[in-house]
Order: sequence, then structure tokens, then C-alpha cells
Amino acid sequence: MAQVTCSFCGRNKKDVDLMVSGISAHICNFCIDQAHLILGEEEKTKKSSSKPKFKLKKPKELTSYLDQYVIGQEDAKKVLTVAVYNHYKRLQQKEEHDEIKIEKSNIIMVGDTGTGKTYLAKTLAKTLEVPFCIADATVLTEAGYVGEDVESILTRLLQAADYNVEAAERGIVYIDEIDKIARKSDNPSITRDVSGEGVQQAMLKLLEGTVVNVPPQGGRKHPDQKMIAVNTENILFICGGAFDGIARHIGKRLNTQPMGFSKTTGAIAADRENLLQYVTAQDLKAFGLIPELIGRLPVLTHLDPLHKDALKRILTEPKNALVKQYTKLLAMEGVELKFEESALDFIVDKAVEYNLGARGLRSICEAIITDAMYELPSDDSIKELTIDEDYAKSQFDKSKFKRLQVA
Ligand code: ADP
Repeated sequence: MAQVTCSFCGRNKKDVDLMVSGISAHICNFCIDQAHLILGEEEKTKKSSSKPKFKLKKPKELTSYLDQYVIGQEDAKKVLTVAVYNHYKRLQQKEEHDEIKIEKSNIIMVGDTGTGKTYLAKTLAKTLEVPFCIADATVLTEAGYVGEDVESILTRLLQAADYNVEAAERGIVYIDEIDKIARKSDNPSITRDVSGEGVQQAMLKLLEGTVVNVPPQGGRKHPDQKMIAVNTENILFICGGAFDGIARHIGKRLNTQPMGFSKTTGAIAADRENLLQYVTAQDLKAFGLIPELIGRLPVLTHLDPLHKDALKRILTEPKNALVKQYTKLLAMEGVELKFEESALDFIVDKAVEYNLGARGLRSICEAIITDAMYELPSDDSIKELTIDEDYAKSQFDKSKFKRLQVA
């Protein structure tokens, strides 16, 4: 009888563990293993050569998308969309012998809390369809201290990208409360606050572009943990902070400026309540960000304070405005919900009174509408609910807000 040999390596049947026979050929377990490895490699190269797609939209297109969700903040929108557009154009540039290298345009936003910094970054990432995560600068510490290593920021981005490293490497990271890692004083004679400055130092490489070993499950690094290498060169970092007190500093700077502004004090005085629009890198330095960090966040923009008219528009206009959401929820119960203008004004006034900004609108609405949301599903006789100022006021007065009365 003819010897059975592997048609690929020629091994004899007696020399292998397993021989699989086809119509006119045989394959041994060694060659099956080999073929399996080749298939795996092939799969990998296919994946890495098919670039993850993202939608490059022009600044105006991006802005009109943002407009559907974010009210006002025209300056921030313009600066952000241009920076984002350029950033992604930079990713498309051919590496070849081009001498003009487009630099990365990480962004820093200065604006009061609740004015839409996070919301803008998040909405931008959504329109570009790139992975996005939010990190809080206050929990970061220098390596070796209690808290999270700076690398942990990237763990979240990896998670948002479903561990697709390549997608994560084109993602957007929003770092909130960047002002909280400021050096406490600009005056070097005062003992330096090492923790804030240390974190700033630790962030430099990350912002600029480096390969970071990221613990896939987060937490502190330890020697036996398997790490994933992530290159941050094409990750766009957007930082945001309220920078409490910076307006005063800007005001002082403008007033003492020897020339230029002195003639236009009238205009400045009119803008006094929105001094943030004059923010410069110099002000950030005076606040306690180190120059190296500021240098890696070359695009600086501000958010305007949200006044009553903006807050009212936020209640009703965005695609997922609160009023639209409540109306939809109640429509599902067969109830037509209406808000009278006076009720909307009342909600806005309370948000201003309690100094809650846009973030407070939701909790105020909840306080007003929860009773109705509780009763209506069990009461088929009611087909309409109109919330007027009296109703809003009486519900509000019953709520926990009353107990929070501003001092
Ligand atoms: P912060 O500036 O503190 O990052 P956020 O972006 O988290 O503020 O805003 C909190 C919430 O308030 C958002 O989720 C959004 O619903 C609402 N909001 C804030 N600013 C705006 C705005 N300009 N337009 C629409 N909604 C806004």
C-alpha cells in the first residue's frame, strides 16, 4: 500500500499526530497549524491597512451640525471647527517628502461651568464619528502618587473605541478641569505646589505625541499587567476649565495696558461681563499653567456666559431640548404637553437665581414635572397638560430646591 504523506511538507503519516485527507491530497497537523498562523497574520495586515474611516466635514458643515445642539458660543464653534478640520486634514496628508509639516492643533477652552465646553467637544466627536472620552484632570497625579496615572486617560479612549487601537489613535479626548492642575501661584518665591505642576509635566508628552503603554483595564500600572501601546500623535486633545478668577486678571491687564485699549475703554466697559473673550496665553500662564503645557495647546478659545435668552433657547431649541423630550415622553402616554412662555421664563429665572447655568435647567424641570409624570400614566381621563407659571411655581416651591434656598 502506498505511504500516506503530507502533500505540503512530505512528512510520513507515522511521524505526525494527525493527517487529514482530502480528495487527492493530505495535510498533517503541523501544516494545519502553520496555515492557521498565516491566516491570522493575513487578517491582521488587512485590518491595519484598511484605515478606520472618519467623516471629514468642512468647518461650516461642522458648525451647522453643532448649531442643532449647542446654542450660541459662536466664537468657540468657529475656532473649534477650524482646529478640528485642520487636525483631520493633517491626518490625511501624505508622509512623503513634504517639507511643510502641519502641526497638531490641540485646543484649550476657557469658560464658566455649565456653558457647554464638554457638550461641544462631545457633539463634535459625534459628528466626526471618532472615539471620544472625557477625563477629569483633578484625579490625575504624577506617577508614584495616589491617584490615576496620566496614561489612564487613554484607557477610557481605548474602551470607547472597543479596543480598536487604530480608531483610538484618531480619537478625541476631552480633559475637564484643566485649571485645577494649575500651579497655585505664579510667584516662584512661594513654595511650589508640586502636584499640579507635576501632572502638567506628565501631560506634556501625551499632548505632543508619543507611544504610551496603556493598561487596558485602567488602574495603576503594575509589572505583570499586559499593556497596549497607543500612539497619541494623532489624538486630538481638547482641554477645558472655568479658570475661576481669570476674568479679574484679564480686566486688570486690560486696564493697565499702556496703549491701544486705553482709547476704547468704553467698548471694554460694555464687555466687562464677558472679559473671557480677551483671554490670552499670558493669562493662562499667570493662572498657573506652565508655558510648556500652554505651548502644546496652541488653539485657545472662550465660552460666553449664558444669559437668560440663551438659557431659554436651550430649553426649547436644540434637537434634544428638554421641552421636546418631556413632550415626547408624555405624548407616549397620549397626553399633549404645553409649556407657557411664562413657565419657561420662570424656569430660566430659577436657573439664574440658583447660579446653576444650563446644567440646572434639567433639575428644575424635573422638580416641576415629576408629579405629573407620576400621576398621568395611571389616569386615562387627562389628555392635555399645560404648564403655566403658577403651576411651575407651586411645584417648584414643593421641591427640594426650596430647601436649598440661596444664602
Ligand atoms: P461645561 O462647560 O461645564 O463642560 P457642559 O458642556 O457639561 O458644561 O454642559 C452641561 C449641560 O448643559 C450639557 O449637557 C447641555 O445639556 C447643557 N448646555 C450647556 N451649554 C449649552 C449650550 N450652549 N447649548 C445647549 N445646551 C447646553
